[in-house]
Amino acid sequence: MIHSPQLSKSAPQTDGFAGHETVFVNEYTNGILDPNQPMLGPVRDGGHIVANTAPGCWGPMITPEIRGGHEVTRPVAVAGAQPGDAIAIRIKEITVTSLATASGNDQMMSGRFLGDPYVAGKCPECGTLYPKTVVQGIGPTAIRCANCGADASPFTFTNGYTIGFDGNRTLGVTLSQEIAEQIARQAKHFAAMPENSIQNSILTFAPHDLVGLVARMRPFMGQLGTTPSMPLPDSHNAGDFGAFLIGAPHEYAVTAEQLQQHRTDGHLDIDAVRAGAILICPVKAEGGGIYLGDMHAMQGDGEIAGHTADVAGTVTLQVHLLKGLA
Ligand SMILES: [Zn+2]
Ligand SMILES: [Zn+2]
Repeated sequence: MIHSPQLSKSAPQTDGFAGHETVFVNEYTNGILDPNQPMLGPVRDGGHIVANTAPGCWGPMITPEIRGGHEVTRPVAVAGAQPGDAIAIRIKEITVTSLATASGNDQMMSGRFLGDPYVAGKCPECGTLYPKTVVQGIGPTAIRCANCGADASPFTFTNGYTIGFDGNRTLGVTLSQEIAEQIARQAKHFAAMPENSIQNSILTFAPHDLVGLVARMRPFMGQLGTTPSMPLPDSHNAGDFGAFLIGAPHEYAVTAEQLQQHRTDGHLDIDAVRAGAILICPVKAEGGGIYLGDMHAMQGDGEIAGHTADVAGTVTLQVHLLKGLA
């Protein structure tokens, strides 16, 4: 799926090093988009980014060590990008690599987070914030605090299903308890979890309340954009979801004015962000910082039920710098 870099005859827009032709990405944030952390790259104006993305939502939602609700890629700088510019991101290809995923309706687990279960997971027994976890067995109580052994998942299913995909990733079918539990025992394999990802796979929970439903796949990126100009939890880099940060009791609280000023709305969560689309994104941090993640197998048309069918995948992007557009 990897495209060879395309040569451009256009002159680089910066003096000296014009950036890499292609930047390959297989590193992830801890859920916080932080403009002060080093970025990958830079990729040149007109160059490509090829990323292996980890699932968003459900996996990070049962991994309290991740502070953002997603586990998006480490941002890539675009050579010459300065605040006030914009970057056009062309989505060349999105390919699902997961063999299966699980989803359903979610329920927050009171006592297992500080104000916001997407951002500030907390162990209900030892009180550790953002606790590391270990997986013990399968099912909805398998996620245990590495420090004290308590059930520490900030979310669970009220009802859910496991969905397996065909070899060409064109459709999925929801699976029986027996198959869901077999998959749960090899969750990371069936999720095609990237090796640098730290999330627990939602397949571990083996939900199986709906069996034998078929859904068409049409993958898109829930998150694609530029890095905000202050540290923000990734899933909250949006006008709607970001509202939960205003006056929050955890360390990533912001004011309404800060959210408005610094967010870049990378968490669009609309199925139009799929192969063939072009996004125009504001540069608010030096280098822009292109990041992506939260790939969904489908949304809306044909989606079965509940909160997101999250998958791992590979994505090819091409970026163009638009000087002074913003
Ligand atoms: Zn604990
Ligand atoms: Zn999303």
